[in-house]
Amino acid sequence: MARKRHSVFIVTSELAPYVKTGGLADMVAALAAGFKRKGHDVRVALPFYSQIKLSGMRYTTALNSMCVTMGIGEQWCAVRYVETPDKIPVYLIEHDAFFDRPGLYHDQGYNDYQDNPRRFGFFSRAALQIVLDLSLKPDIIHVNDWQTALVPVYLKTWFWNHPVLGRSASVLTIHNESYQGAYSAEHYKWLGLRDDDFTPDIFEDFKRVNLLKGGIYYADAVNTVSPTHAREISTPFEGFGLAPYISNKGKAFRGILNGVDYSTWSPEIDPLIPARYSAHDLSGKVVCKHYLQKHFHLEENSRIALIGFIGRLTTQKGIHLLKEIIERVVKDMVAQFVILGSGDPEYEHFFGTLPGRYPGKIGSYIGFNNDQAHLIEAGADFFVMPSLYEPCGLNQMYSLRYGTVPIVHATGGLDDTVENYDEKTGSGTGFKFWEISGNALYYTIGWAVSTYYDRSRHLLTLRQNAMKQDFSWDRSVKQYLQLYETAIHMKNEYDTRFE
Ligand code: ADP
Repeated sequence: MARKRHSVFIVTSELAPYVKTGGLADMVAALAAGFKRKGHDVRVALPFYSQIKLSGMRYTTALNSMCVTMGIGEQWCAVRYVETPDKIPVYLIEHDAFFDRPGLYHDQGYNDYQDNPRRFGFFSRAALQIVLDLSLKPDIIHVNDWQTALVPVYLKTWFWNHPVLGRSASVLTIHNESYQGAYSAEHYKWLGLRDDDFTPDIFEDFKRVNLLKGGIYYADAVNTVSPTHAREISTPFEGFGLAPYISNKGKAFRGILNGVDYSTWSPEIDPLIPARYSAHDLSGKVVCKHYLQKHFHLEENSRIALIGFIGRLTTQKGIHLLKEIIERVVKDMVAQFVILGSGDPEYEHFFGTLPGRYPGKIGSYIGFNNDQAHLIEAGADFFVMPSLYEPCGLNQMYSLRYGTVPIVHATGGLDDTVENYDEKTGSGTGFKFWEISGNALYYTIGWAVSTYYDRSRHLLTLRQNAMKQDFSWDRSVKQYLQLYETAIHMKNEYDTRFE
């Protein structure tokens, strides 16, 4: 049977390399490239944030002016156009009042922009307008997180019998369910949502409007980004209040593990690290370690265990556990840390000032820096991810490829991708702990550090095992294509209700 060629329109609030605050940007870029490689037609819509504009990137204009009708009034915007290096069309929606801001979702003090529902509701509606004004014919519209969760809603309420949009099935990927886009209900009318839908099972959330919840209700299929996290969020305990609505989706909800873009994250070819290396020849890793120690003003000694952390400095990432024990670790063990991240001011201050108190032992950079992220992945011996929950997590998969043995809390995607070290045989790919506590983290780091010094042959085996892991996108792309088939099927079933 001939393989079906899909026309996929991805609507996203982040896309690497243009704009990124987390894994969403990487995931969408890699998934789009994966579809393209398999011969599908894939296009992306993204807000034209000032951060992209100011990068000096060259672009053309797809639409000089586009009218977007919202629940109250019209908004006007322009649509700019670029192609990714993989030749994927990207439509950039230019609306400066909404997207010319210092942050994507919040100001520099980490306060959410209170008009976020309007900013991203507009973006969602504008993405559909692009389909109409540029005569695209997507059979799948794939949206991501609360920012674009209104797309499936508009499809089913405004455009359910439209000759073009009425044919598109929708897929909603939840990258992080703790962010639901719940805001004041004063925005409800502006967004053009149905009065009848302001109920607890669709949009209403303790008198506020919850965009993700409405998106889950209306999307033809929903997924999150690892099988274990899919199970977790289907339970009331770990479902962030949405477990019943997720469970209602039945077979139209599943977990699909993100893949890794190995053309960007492989020590054999990485142009951002000082020396390249492979599982067969790890000598370049030692060069990277020296460089990393020098860069972060650590004692330059390849025989000291070096532990890296990269990520948002928020409690989701378990950063409070690391805060609780990091000083104890460097006092009790011969170990160094490099921390790269930004986030809550409290943690930024703590980790930003640690190097001053532990010179030569702890290095940190508060901010977002891709070059340093690559250097840490290559130069560290271990990579720590004590996340309280982790829908998928990318860094542990990057670490595996760089032979940087992960130390993780066994949750979500971390549990799916890291195999615990077996002290008898030396098998496994990392070190896991189950209890959420500073002590559990402390002793697991201790276990890793003692393996480094006392069982170095085991550590070498762990590194080799880790580097052999393959989380490439081909497998995930296949599973997304299956999910698309499910979405089309669910949409057809839904439509028969109106026949
Ligand atoms: P999340 O999406 O929850 O933030 P992930 O582990 O899925 O976490 O993805 C985070 C991505 O963002 C990784 O590619 C990581 O390297 C990158 N990243 C996070 N913080 C920083 C930072 N401060 N500097 C550079 N890259 C970062």
